[in-house]
Amino acid sequence: MTAKIIDGKNLSVQIKAEIASKITALDKAPCLAVILVGNDEASLVYDRNKQKAAQTVGMDCEFYHLEEQTKEQELLDLISRLNNDSHVNGIIVQLPLPKHLDTKKILEAVAPKKDVDGFNPVNAGRLQSKDSEAFVSATPRGVLFMLQSVCSDLSGKNVVIIGRSNIVGRPLASLLLNHDCTVTVTHSKTKNIQDFTKNADIVIAACGCPKMVKKEWIKDGAIVIDVGINRIDGKLCGDVDFEDVLSVAGYVTPVPGGVGPMTIAMLLENTYDAYLKQNGIVKK
Ligand code: NAD
Repeated sequence: MTAKIIDGKNLSVQIKAEIASKITALDKAPCLAVILVGNDEASLVYDRNKQKAAQTVGMDCEFYHLEEQTKEQELLDLISRLNNDSHVNGIIVQLPLPKHLDTKKILEAVAPKKDVDGFNPVNAGRLQSKDSEAFVSATPRGVLFMLQSVCSDLSGKNVVIIGRSNIVGRPLASLLLNHDCTVTVTHSKTKNIQDFTKNADIVIAACGCPKMVKKEWIKDGAIVIDVGINRIDGKLCGDVDFEDVLSVAGYVTPVPGGVGPMTIAMLLENTYDAYLKQNGIVKK
């Protein structure tokens, strides 16, 4: 068997084209506010990509680039101002924040109705309790979209997630549970992870360990989603040994060109959804 590739780049182009066309029907453009504190290079690249993507679909994007030494109160004041600004529909605070800032406090300050990253505990709790009002973090939402693009019925599928972070593993587990999957979450303390993955219909790697998942870990025909973004000798790679699993998996996502572009597309979709909700428009 040679695995089929789930092309995240291509899917994201389609999603963005749909968002762009939906935006032309609105009275005004939705607006995303992006806050970056400091000069982390990877964060700068991510935020520029988000800005570009927002502009491509016809959204407004306000970029607030604050100094590394920004005081916590200053950041909280900015978030409060954006929370109360009716022009702004979505707010994201790029992580990681510099160490002197309390990440929990900052994420809790973003109004749940504008929390398009889904990192506020209100949205995390809503997701866990299967409340449709939840903003689902963009990466898990992108993973779900990719799965649904190749699997029409996720109900009863055995899913193994590698990683239990608040931004990927945990929300993904809730989201897939809400879609009737049987979910196992493995992590750095799990013994013999391959004993779990090799019986799974779907394996999702989100652990930040370059090429850790090998073909021996994968059941014939399984769907393998690679969330990881790592570098080996400057070259991007995922948590899955892509070339290795090609001969066993049914579907696999590449890195780059897989989950990454989907994350940005889903952030835009969340911002569009936020605009609809804030303007009392029912999504069709
Ligand atoms: P994190 O460091 O917060 O969490 C990593 C998780 O993996 C932890 O729960 C840990 O227990 C687990 N883990 C670590 N080593 C392990 C091992 N050897 N075996 C099993 N589990 C192990 O990371 P994160 O923020 O969740 O990100 C994970 C990866 O996904 C990173 O490579 C990150 O760059 C990438 N990522 C990609 C996107 C995207 O849009 N494609 C978005 C977010 C994160």
